[in-house]
Amino acid sequence: MPKLRVCCICGISSGYFKKDRNSRSFFNFPNPNIKKLVPFDKDLLERRLVAWKEVVGTNYDNVPIGLTCVCSDHFQSGKPARFSNVNDIDWIP
Ligand SMILES: [Zn+2]
Repeated sequence: MPKLRVCCICGISSGYFKKDRNSRSFFNFPNPNIKKLVPFDKDLLERRLVAWKEVVGTNYDNVPIGLTCVCSDHFQSGKPARFSNVNDIDWIP
């Protein structure tokens, strides 16, 4: 089954394609629950997740878990910065 992904800032969904006609990409929220993370990475991902949720606000709770994404429209460079680049403008949407 194709995975539908929804940008919880602008509400656009990816439909059946990973990229839509405008070459929009969808990025998952930071996931601090990945196994194998060292404690430092986990802390950083938790901070990042909180920061993303602050940007998105209540929309985060309105989209079913697992579908929540942020599309490339909300990043200066079109994609999120590496999670270790805390001071990058694209660290949060
Ligand atoms: Zn969007």
